[in-house]
Amino acid sequence: MKVAVFSTKAYDRQFLSAINSPTQHELVFFEPRLNRDTAILAAGFPAVCVFVHDQVDALTLELLASRGTRLVVLRCAGFNNVDLQAAADLGITVVRVPAYSPYGVAEHAVGLILSLNRKIHRAYNRVREGNFSIDGLLGFNLHERTVGIIGTGKIGLILGQIMKGFGCHLLAYDVYRNPELEALGGKYVELPELFANSDIISLHCPLTTETHHLINTETIKQIKAGVMLINTSRGALIDTQAVIEGLKSGKIGYLGVDVYEQESELFFEDLSGEIIQDDIFQRLTTFPNVLITGHQAFFTAEALHNIAETTFANIADIEKGRSCPNEIRAQLPV
Ligand code: NAD
Repeated sequence: MKVAVFSTKAYDRQFLSAINSPTQHELVFFEPRLNRDTAILAAGFPAVCVFVHDQVDALTLELLASRGTRLVVLRCAGFNNVDLQAAADLGITVVRVPAYSPYGVAEHAVGLILSLNRKIHRAYNRVREGNFSIDGLLGFNLHERTVGIIGTGKIGLILGQIMKGFGCHLLAYDVYRNPELEALGGKYVELPELFANSDIISLHCPLTTETHHLINTETIKQIKAGVMLINTSRGALIDTQAVIEGLKSGKIGYLGVDVYEQESELFFEDLSGEIIQDDIFQRLTTFPNVLITGHQAFFTAEALHNIAETTFANIADIEKGRSCPNEIRAQLPV
């Protein structure tokens, strides 16, 4: 099938081309994101392949459909950027990669925890400048600390397994209990109990209307003073302004995030020569106890390989008229 691949970076081209045999699909790589202005690039392509920041809204879908596109292939799990109802109305099929890197994301969350705790991000800079003072780098033992995991699906469970290895106690909250987490000794509690008793809170639930701004001014009041808050899930789980107030007051002792509510304006691009206009984001970067990465938790060689494999399996299913287990329809939550 002829596929227009949007938001292409060098690593996408490398991993997609490596899996795609020359006789399989005709891939044409475009660097711009897909949106209503760039949809014209896909004219005559039966399929488009997109990532997390492409804007697959109703108008973009109409423009795609009017020029022959019938398939949207997401090379990611989240689909909050796709208007599924509009796609259904236009007869466009949408497929995704539901899981590609649960170990990678959980391990990245652990990386944020260890770096923030032992202040490795600060120590790295000090040593490079010949400053070998350890004043201000005091950490704490993870052993016997309590980790609160919100969302105990694939990634939350793996985080629980890793933190159990450090000798941590596990508290959990989810709309469904995961018996594997309970088998680890994890205890399901309501959110106020998790907030009040966790030394580290890590978010691993999807972004939905229920979880939007789960961490806000009111919930921060319930949190144990000095907590470490980790978010590798979706930026809008956190009300960033409220978290900044929590950091200023000391209620939040550490913040590690791989995602940010307004990240589509920033992440995945080199803006090092530009003036960042987002004052909230810029304020976050000034705290010594805040560590931000730019949506790289998934970014392992294994994940890119899995994404490419599943993407082509999805295209093959649709092309051959088979039912595709990774097709998504309008009624599912984002
Ligand atoms: P998953 O579907 O396996 O698990 C999500 C869990 O959240 C489920 O157990 C579900 O029951 C639970 N949940 C749903 N609504 C909830 C609510 N209101 N409160 C508490 N829990 C709720 O998903 P996963 O593979 O573990 O991924 C988790 C999240 O990680 C994804 O939603 C995605 O946003 C994010 N993610 C981030 C990256 C990255 O690179 N930073 C990569 C992949 C996924």
